[in-house]
Amino acid sequence: MFTTALAQRGKTEQGDLPLDLFTAIETLKKELNAVILAHYYQEPDIQDIADFIGDSLQLAKAAAHTNADVIVFAGVHFMAETAKILNRDKMVLLPDLNAGCSLADSCPPEAFAAFKAAHPDHLVVSYINCSADIKAMSDIICTSSNAVKIVEQIPKDQPIIFAPDRNLGRYVMEKTGRDLVLWEGSCVVHETFSEKKIVQLKMAYPQAEAIAHPECETSVLRHASFIGSTAALLNYCEQSPSQEFIVATEPGIIHQMQKRAPHKRFIPAPPLNNCACNECPFMRLNTLEKLYWAMKNRAPEISLPENIREAALRPIQRMLEMSA
Ligand code: SF4
Repeated sequence: MFTTALAQRGKTEQGDLPLDLFTAIETLKKELNAVILAHYYQEPDIQDIADFIGDSLQLAKAAAHTNADVIVFAGVHFMAETAKILNRDKMVLLPDLNAGCSLADSCPPEAFAAFKAAHPDHLVVSYINCSADIKAMSDIICTSSNAVKIVEQIPKDQPIIFAPDRNLGRYVMEKTGRDLVLWEGSCVVHETFSEKKIVQLKMAYPQAEAIAHPECETSVLRHASFIGSTAALLNYCEQSPSQEFIVATEPGIIHQMQKRAPHKRFIPAPPLNNCACNECPFMRLNTLEKLYWAMKNRAPEISLPENIREAALRPIQRMLEMSA
């Protein structure tokens, strides 16, 4: 259901916006033979107009299988890059090129190359939330949905570097009993949740189950009765008999949770301050207007040097094979 169907009218520096932005986007979609892929952390209007909504793994799989000529990626830069890595000959558009990711930025390529050189016998498993340059230096990519499953398939005597998220790395270590060498990166959003406020919420809502994304710090994860990727959290809420949930991940997912289980109550886990810093500032840069202009202007487009794209493709393909 579109939430603000006719509320997008206005003038921008690029020109007049159509009266009905949703219809205009549907028309452009047909003209371009485009598919709109959106992450669960996007604003509700974008989720509602997307052809496919998912977490990183689901979106990577959707990008790998699409027959569209143009992929409009409503997510952040590394996700659109992943779509381009998988689709050399397709046009990939990102509504706002500034939609980056603090976690991907916490792993600069030069520093990571030196880190890797210091551990020459190690296999590199990288979380998909990293740049194409880091993917190109990796042996296998993983997502929060399959990280445990992938590490479990690697021989026990093979030392592993896990990058760039230290919290997900620690979670994988706990689940697999493996000793991983961790890159010390983190996500600003998932590190912002306050353990103290979650405990207070649990006291205020004693029937509520706390659920969390593994990018959260250990101090938050220990209060969660279920830990999983964005897609796993969504499925869990739908299937659990509980009627109330405290949700420790980016609150954009609550739109889908509410759609799947309208009779249940979802309480966003509070950040440290009274700000909205539990919302990903990068994801929120994309708007329905920018999505329209990206399709209209066929820009901004994602492009990559072919040698980096090819090198980054191999570890993504390994992930897709290992998580099939
Ligand atoms: S929520 Fe965190 S990991 Fe996800 S895109 Fe935003 S900054 Fe990156």
